[in-house]
Amino acid sequence: MPRKGQFGMAAGHVFALPDPAGPLKTGPEFPPFLLSRKADCFRMSEPIKTDVLIIGAGPVGLFAVFELGLLDMKCHLVDILDKVGGQCAELYPEKPIYDIPAIPKISAQGLVDQLMEQIKPFAPQFHLGEMVETITRLGDPLFRVTTDGGKVFEAKVVVIAAGGGSFQPKRPPIPGIEAYEDKSVHYAVRKMDAFKGKKILIVGGGDSALDWTLNLQPVASHVTLLHRRADFRAAPDSVNKMMALVNDKKIDLVLGQVTGLEGADGQLSAAVVKRTDNTVGPVTCDAMLPFFGLTMKLGPVANWGLRLHEDVIPVNTENFETSEPGIFAIGDINTYPGKLKLILSGFHEVALMSQKAHRYVYPDKKLTFQYTTSSSSLQKKLGV
Ligand SMILES: Cc1cc2nc3c(=O)[nH]c(=O)nc-3n(C[C@H](O)[C@H](O)[C@H](O)COP(=O)(O)OP(=O)(O)OC[C@H]3O[C@@H](n4cnc5c(N)ncnc54)[C@H](O)[C@@H]3O)c2cc1C
Repeated sequence: MPRKGQFGMAAGHVFALPDPAGPLKTGPEFPPFLLSRKADCFRMSEPIKTDVLIIGAGPVGLFAVFELGLLDMKCHLVDILDKVGGQCAELYPEKPIYDIPAIPKISAQGLVDQLMEQIKPFAPQFHLGEMVETITRLGDPLFRVTTDGGKVFEAKVVVIAAGGGSFQPKRPPIPGIEAYEDKSVHYAVRKMDAFKGKKILIVGGGDSALDWTLNLQPVASHVTLLHRRADFRAAPDSVNKMMALVNDKKIDLVLGQVTGLEGADGQLSAAVVKRTDNTVGPVTCDAMLPFFGLTMKLGPVANWGLRLHEDVIPVNTENFETSEPGIFAIGDINTYPGKLKLILSGFHEVALMSQKAHRYVYPDKKLTFQYTTSSSSLQKKLGV
């Protein structure tokens, strides 16, 4: 299964140097359970001290840098991926987003780029290609956070912006599909250009399958959408647009399931499809894009001693704090009554979280509410 870049990205890792001198440091100050898999053969590095450690550099983690920065809190961010942007950058960078307030249309990667521009004045430090493994409370407020690359952070506040954890696409149960993965079977579209002039078979009936059918239709030489029934889980507008393309004979819609693949050396020539009328036959294609949803693997988040509800973290909606004082959860990783997994919801959560985080980082400072439009001190921080 392709790992979508989550793990083993040596490029992003800066390991602590191996210590030939002796065993790993342990003891009450540094108990062995804190030592990560990769760190087993390395000493942990010197702690990196920061006001706030953000776990996850998706859109919500990135915007947290801005709101925290306005309140004078410095951030380090850790992400398993080798790039910033979370789902936006990894799963749908070229897809347009239409529901960011005051931005009628922006590509997912464009949004990430704009967020990076917006947080520049606060000089956040990124640690990419690293997975946070442990969080340990050292004091009130002080946390030690360790990564699988052997990094150690000491932070007054921890903000979990881990989305769905480490996400992996679900592999369809098609014999021999592994041989084609990453060559002509793809679970995400990184560059639409890669599909220019190709015959594409898109499999699935949800938002991703429908969105990519609509987006790739003008690029590909031919698109076939295959779904097991004539009932789609995607947004009604996308379903209507897709049906219009079918009626105009611009794409083919086939109802059935892939039972086998034909091709050589990882290059598909056709998918064998069993149709709902029980006929079996090939659908010619150069590339297949199965969208069977994502398996959200919570990963180490489950071991951090936080109260969880169905693999997400319940939070207090006044400040998005978890059951552990000083540890916050924002964006897709949290839950509360009425939660919507939308970027704009995460942005709102960030603003309220920052107000409470300020109390931990600056317990003696009174926080005065200010607008960026009228506060010269906020404008100075932004360099405007
Ligand atoms: C196809 C598609 C289309 C979408 N369209 C829209 C839309 O139009 N509008 C909208 O508002 N939303 C949309 N969404 C949802 C939106 O992308 C998410 O709500 C948003 O990405 C959540 O942001 P986040 O920062 O909370 O999490 P994510 O974007 O999931 O980022 C979380 C990051 O945390 C990292 N991470 C997880 N665990 C660890 C760990 N232990 N250590 C280090 N790093 C870790 C992950 O690698 C990831 O990069 C769409 C989603 C998909 C899949």
